[in-house]
Amino acid sequence: MSDASSGDASSASRAIAIPAHSHCEICHKAIKQRDRFCGSAECEQKHQQNIAEKKKAMWKMIAIMMGLILVFTVLNRTDWLV
Ligand SMILES: [Zn+2]
Repeated sequence: MSDASSGDASSASRAIAIPAHSHCEICHKAIKQRDRFCGSAECEQKHQQNIAEKKKAMWKMIAIMMGLILVFTVLNRTDWLV
């Protein structure tokens, strides 16, 4: 692993040892491992927007599913209507 060909390897070996960390989910800044965001209000706001959009998409999916179920039940019940 270690390359001992050059004399000043101290700076290179130190650069490899990056402490455990994670990245902000919005701006991908390096942050503490247990955190999900860098702590800036902008990223927090963007994250809230993402959640809102995901919720909207989820409700749309549910609405489509409900619509499909409704259509199928109506289609099944047309048998005794005609
Ligand atoms: Zn951020």
